Amino acid sequence: MFSIPASLEELAREFRKHGRQCYLVGGAIRDMLLGRPSTDYDIATDALPQEVRGMFRRVIPTGLKHGTVTVLFRDLRFEVTTFRIDREYLDGRRPDSVVFTPSIEEDLRRRDFTVNAIAYDLDSRRLLDPHGGRADLHRGIIRAIGDPLERFREDGLRPVRACRFAAQFGFSVEPATFAAIPACLDTVRKVSSERIREELVRLLRAPQPSTGFRLMASCGLLELLLPELAAGAGVEQRSLHCFDVLEHSLRSCDAAEPGNPPVRLAALLHDIGKPAAMRREADGTLSFHGHERLSAEQASALLERLRFPNQLIHKTRHLVLHHMFNYTEEWSDAAVRRFIARVGEEHVPDLLALRRADQVGTCGDPSPSQALAAFSRRLEKVLQAGRALTLRDLAVDGRDLMRALGLPPGPRVGVLLGQLLESVLEDPALNTRETLLAIAGRFYRERLL
Ligand code: ATP
Ligand code: MG
Repeated sequence: MFSIPASLEELAREFRKHGRQCYLVGGAIRDMLLGRPSTDYDIATDALPQEVRGMFRRVIPTGLKHGTVTVLFRDLRFEVTTFRIDREYLDGRRPDSVVFTPSIEEDLRRRDFTVNAIAYDLDSRRLLDPHGGRADLHRGIIRAIGDPLERFREDGLRPVRACRFAAQFGFSVEPATFAAIPACLDTVRKVSSERIREELVRLLRAPQPSTGFRLMASCGLLELLLPELAAGAGVEQRSLHCFDVLEHSLRSCDAAEPGNPPVRLAALLHDIGKPAAMRREADGTLSFHGHERLSAEQASALLERLRFPNQLIHKTRHLVLHHMFNYTEEWSDAAVRRFIARVGEEHVPDLLALRRADQVGTCGDPSPSQALAAFSRRLEKVLQAGRALTLRDLAVDGRDLMRALGLPPGPRVGVLLGQLLESVLEDPALNTRETLLAIAGRFYRERLL
């Protein structure tokens, strides 16, 4: 019925040898039914975690408290979880304790959505689908198991997951399930930032994250979790734009590559400073002067709040901060070099990708603009010339300057080096040891002494 990887077949045989059941559950079986590739395999079994640890050589006790261990077997890794019932969600975040059960049916009942509660018995090769998950897969529906309000009050992450799954598969959320969300926002508020972040990360990998964000906007989740983004609703822009700030952000996000998280995040967040930066000019037009700085600050605050990794925060912030370049053919080579020096050579491709997404999000036109294509060619040409673009490329370093000018280490050395880079960006021919030492000497005597 499915193509089950050989190592999974073999893993199932080990369980059988020990007289234990072995089901493929959750995302993997759902994805197989949808004909999508699956990379993580969730296994459910009646064997207790300790017993599973004894059955295999390489076992990581990933979440012993919740009955989960990771088994590394042949070429794959399996998350093996003992059938369980979640006891009392007292705080709306996580079950405070779990109870193991010998029944796969009970285990399936505690799962979030019907499409996630299908099990495949690797022994009898039969599907177990007590909640009609397959029918919902065919209809393209995310439906809570049982009473949605009750299930969402148990765990406030589930409403976010509903929106994420809808976007990931291009599904809709079943009306009663969706209607339950506004009444459980207080429970969503209690969920840890890390769990929310994981769902947002997965949403951002969807073909069109906007589907999920629009659902979140219409049930109050966006306002609660990403208020900076929600604030763009109804904020109109200048005549160039067809959409308000929120819609523009969502369309830009869709237009960015799913496989490049910082660019997708930057596309989503590049204009969130606009509502705060908006001014009405004397002639009645709107301006958003300096919004890139506000957007960069708000984006990094938002990403820190959700505990995104620091490197991703820095990169996203940097892209947002520099997204407002305005190339024209009149730019001199020196101006192009100063641009590269300012944004950093390694960020140039991502900034171009961000601008491309930004343009698509402006009025929905997917063809790249002439000016952007021309800038891209121009950047390439300037980069190919292999000229000095950073302090490291200068023909002298700080030690050379200190020796030649008899300077002690200190901030003045940095000021001098910065000045030399300016000169070399303007005229690359100046980048020789002799010339730079002469320029540095003159600048030092005239400005720093
Ligand atoms: P993905 O392919 O994105 O990993 P997934 O369905 O595997 O999707 P996981 O978060 O890996 O999602 O969870 C695995 C399974 O555990 C789910 O399919 C679902 O059955 C169950 N599950 C996960 N989170 C919850 C939750 N908050 N409440 C109830 N069941 C959950
Ligand atoms: Mg999974």
